[in-house]
Amino acid sequence: MTDGADLPTPQFSTLAVHAGAAPDASTGARVTPIYQTASYVFNDADHAASLFGLEAFGNIYTRIMNPTQAALEERVAALEGGTAALAVASGHAAQFLVFHTLLEPGDEFVAATQLYGGSVNQFNHSFKKFDWNVAWADATNPDTIQAAITDKTKAIFVESIANPGGLVVDLPAISAVAKAAGIPLIVDNTLATPYLCQPKQHGADIIVHSMTKFLGGHGNSIGGIIVDCGTFDWLGAKHRYKTLVDANESYGGMKLAETFGNFAFAIACRVMGLRDLGPAIAPMNAFLILTGIETLPLRMAKHSENALALAQWLDARPEVDWVSYAGLASSSNNGLATKLCPKGSGAVFTFGLKGGYEAGVKLVEGLKLFSHLANIGDVRSLVIHPASTTHRQLTDEQRIRAGAGPDVVRLSVGIEDVADLTADLEQALAALA
Ligand SMILES: *Cc1c(COP(=O)(O)O)cnc(C)c1O
Repeated sequence: MTDGADLPTPQFSTLAVHAGAAPDASTGARVTPIYQTASYVFNDADHAASLFGLEAFGNIYTRIMNPTQAALEERVAALEGGTAALAVASGHAAQFLVFHTLLEPGDEFVAATQLYGGSVNQFNHSFKKFDWNVAWADATNPDTIQAAITDKTKAIFVESIANPGGLVVDLPAISAVAKAAGIPLIVDNTLATPYLCQPKQHGADIIVHSMTKFLGGHGNSIGGIIVDCGTFDWLGAKHRYKTLVDANESYGGMKLAETFGNFAFAIACRVMGLRDLGPAIAPMNAFLILTGIETLPLRMAKHSENALALAQWLDARPEVDWVSYAGLASSSNNGLATKLCPKGSGAVFTFGLKGGYEAGVKLVEGLKLFSHLANIGDVRSLVIHPASTTHRQLTDEQRIRAGAGPDVVRLSVGIEDVADLTADLEQALAALA
């Protein structure tokens, strides 16, 4: 931001527009440019050496950092109240780098069963190849998380609002379990975004996002981000998080947690994970997501308002068996939603059709304004039948535990006029008869 010395501390909507992005120093360009370059000229040999030795911050090569990406990182860190952030190629890449930084072969972590289906696959299958072992627990019952922790457990992973069921998770209670066990709490804040919920205020240590969804907001780019809340004491921790605390041979014996203090986790993800595994975000995608974030507060308010209206409307329909939306006053989850997400419960929710699997498939095919696709967090309204698509690879039992049973339809409600969305659902439900 330009000189704000006399102004009060900027609030959320101001940060969404300004954080991380001053007019371009060399050209005066007001909007952050797309720095479409692979590398950067060094001032001289000493400058080059200090950048490579992590003695100075600066651009070397776009696999590791890029000025458009840096503006995006600063903005999301500001919105989440974190100390630093690292933007990467996708939400899954963000999760991969977080665990690569925390775990060694043979280590364990506890994850909620109520997660995005892709995360369930990533943890169950690909992570096994690294001998990173997931133990599953019920996010609605923190005691089961506690019970799943062993001597080898190095982290807990949950979503703040769980995909696909729209369940608001009790972050303060889960954070208490993490603190008692001396391990960091990782929160996937994709569905809530920092507009609806700031996990750091409820005890998260690390936040991840699929920026593909609401942060970008327009369904036009894949991206992910890791936010370091700066809260976890790596040096004093009961476990040895080697990447953070051991002498790093690739940086002249530097100990990252000692050198970088409360933003060491973000640095470690960048200088070890991103450097060596390579899932860098394209500058163009960083630019599109940065632009999307400027309207995040407006969009999330409208998404939540429309979703609540549709959830109420569906709840009264004879074809509908149940509606799972934390924003409904009748939901058993409404108390937590009001406490943790006072501005709204987000865009994504599920409902069950009395006609089961067949009706779910038919409804999805009958909708005209809602797009049938595997995504959420677009300004356009989206629909999917998880059992036949996103959650197809899971077993029946896993599907039901994840809130994606055979009769379940998931909506990601957009920002269109709600009367048009209701009319579309009405004609598609009528066609079921
Ligand atoms: C989409 C999604 C992811 C994965 O993100 P990608 O950008 O698709 O890699 C992770 N978590 C949640 C909650 C998601 O919705």
